[in-house]
Amino acid sequence: MNILSEVWSGFTTTLKGMWVTGREYLTGKPITVQYPYTKREMPYRFRGMLVNDVSICNGCTKCSRVCPVNCIEIEAEGKGKERHVTKWVLNYQKCCWCELCVEVCPDTSLLMSHDYETVFTDRNKMIRDFVADPIPPFTDVNPKPGTNPYPKKENEGDSESGRAAA
Ligand code: SF4
Ligand code: SF4
Repeated sequence: MNILSEVWSGFTTTLKGMWVTGREYLTGKPITVQYPYTKREMPYRFRGMLVNDVSICNGCTKCSRVCPVNCIEIEAEGKGKERHVTKWVLNYQKCCWCELCVEVCPDTSLLMSHDYETVFTDRNKMIRDFVADPIPPFTDVNPKPGTNPYPKKENEGDSESGRAAA
């Protein structure tokens, strides 16, 4: 490619880019929002902060056994319906947000919330015992605990990865 064709190619490419930008500017709707004043609703499969509502957790340990990075530690006592957790610790430093724990949780107490604004300023706070430090009341950006964030659509097969209906 000689120098003239390179210049011509650069010129036409610039024009194409400007055409696309101009067209979207003049005819398209804005796709940005004025965050944090405006917040978008997250898609129902969005993986925000992983939380556990221990009041409905039965301590079955399925989540910790399926976790590929061993970041859940559980202690529980009691049998049958009396069984409850005395310690349910999640290490956010190790969690890779794979969601396997949520998928196996039979009591739907585990939830990938829609909270995308949590910030840790202290590493120690990334290891959280949800029994000693339970989740605060859910805000409007979070699905309520115990609800099913992956509702089955009509005619959807059982192969859908998701949680049991609440
Ligand atoms: S999302 Fe994955 S890595 Fe994180 S706690 Fe659950 S199973 Fe473990
Ligand atoms: S799988 Fe669910 S119910 Fe079982 S210990 Fe984990 S969070 Fe609790």
